[in-house]
Amino acid sequence: MDMLIGGKHISSEDLQEVKNPYDGEIIDMVPIAHRQTADLAIQQANIAKKDLAEMSAFKISNKLFNVVDKLRQNRTDFAELLSLEVGKPINESLVELDRSIETLKLAAEEAKRVYGESVPLDAGLNGKGFFAFTQRLPLGVVAAITPFNYPLNLTIHKIAPAIACKNTVIVKPPTEAPLTVMKFCELLDEEFPDGVVNTVTGYGSEIGDYLVTSPEINKISFTGSVTTGMMISQKAGMKKVTLELGGNDPMVVLKDADIDKAVKGVINGAFLNAGQVCMGVKRIIIEDEIADEFCNRLVSETEKFVMGNPLDSKTTLGTLISEKAAIQVEETVNNAVGEGAKILTGGNRDGAFYEATVVDNVVMDMDLVAFETFGPVAPIIRVNSVQEAIDVANDTDYGLQAGVFTSDYANAMKCAQEIEAGTVFINKQSTFRTDNMPFGGFKNSGVGKEGIKYAVEEMTKTKLIGLNLR
Ligand code: NAP
Repeated sequence: MDMLIGGKHISSEDLQEVKNPYDGEIIDMVPIAHRQTADLAIQQANIAKKDLAEMSAFKISNKLFNVVDKLRQNRTDFAELLSLEVGKPINESLVELDRSIETLKLAAEEAKRVYGESVPLDAGLNGKGFFAFTQRLPLGVVAAITPFNYPLNLTIHKIAPAIACKNTVIVKPPTEAPLTVMKFCELLDEEFPDGVVNTVTGYGSEIGDYLVTSPEINKISFTGSVTTGMMISQKAGMKKVTLELGGNDPMVVLKDADIDKAVKGVINGAFLNAGQVCMGVKRIIIEDEIADEFCNRLVSETEKFVMGNPLDSKTTLGTLISEKAAIQVEETVNNAVGEGAKILTGGNRDGAFYEATVVDNVVMDMDLVAFETFGPVAPIIRVNSVQEAIDVANDTDYGLQAGVFTSDYANAMKCAQEIEAGTVFINKQSTFRTDNMPFGGFKNSGVGKEGIKYAVEEMTKTKLIGLNLR
């Protein structure tokens, strides 16, 4: 598939294979862009700013709704492509499509709500006699750099609000899974003037880095790992930057919790998308008194997962993004076992597949939980009090989301207030998001928020206009 720059299909002499992680077959080839191609995209995106500025919010909203319709009509094709390139079960891909359609709809609605406000300057010293108001203006060109795990919805979380508030966009999709994003940008291009949305494929360390340092790009909206995010924040200079980074989300299970509900939370939270979810349940911190019973029920539910061809609707656990990624998870679990952890179920790898795995007797010193493990693993950390659970939950550099399971309101509120995370859910696992909510972590999990309304705030600048009526 070609890149899309200024409304034209552009290729390159150098091509990259996109492989199906399930069977290793080549699905397609995409160009490896070099700097001249990125320069062309930057130039086209800057030229298209004028075309977008001249479009009314009414028209932009309608056009985004047209893309909603097109995406809905092509839902199954997109979902199949997503399963092919990411290895996620088709039913999960269909959910990602539904979320993507919803995200786009929210942006189409938000395009009509880019409000300013009147400001009472007379509340300040010498401000009497002014009439003042603010306008929210686009930043200009937004570079959207996105990861492989939810490539479509996470990219729409950047492109759609950017266009809703009249920014043009350059998308750098993930090298391992660029196709659904590129196909989606074709749909957008049918509706909007050439250059409003552009795709540039190639290696993040080269072409992504080049976009981040370009003075002609006004905003970097990045989702990906902490390591890359930190590099971007050091290199972006005076640009606005939003960083949606990794997580090491705790699920705190107190002794008065509804155990079945908590077990279901792990099943839906630790193994979704083969555990490759930023807000996945990555540490289960449980009061020792109920831990044995909880583990027994969790193991029996975990053993129900069916690994297989992601396109088969009976498959409930797909592959990781690559065999290399699966080997990394296998090694991390095996190292934890070497340090005293115990596998209760799972622990085996087959190519890019890694079994749904429950590991008991985990402590925070182990790499399995000290860092983000991006795979289908549920590590159990046993504690003896509510305070210890909170302290363990906070014993990490990450702070994306958290879940707390308890039937005690006082403990629920104590956990909600003391756990350092962008979101704390009570009686729900961290692996939950609606596409309108403010989403973004504390600590190393990120800077800024997404969720359409909040993304628009981060993609606009405020101008104050004051009329001296004295
Ligand atoms: P990644 O390696 O950081 O890559 C993300 C994107 O950044 C890719 O498009 C990548 O390109 C590009 N990139 C790599 N190096 C770059 C550089 N020096 N400058 C600019 N761009 C660069 O992350 P990943 O492995 O794809 O994704 C997994 C991570 O994302 C996990 O940590 C997960 O928790 C996090 N994540 C966070 C959220 C959130 O909303 N908070 C959501 C999903 C995932 P290439 O593909 O070409 O390397």
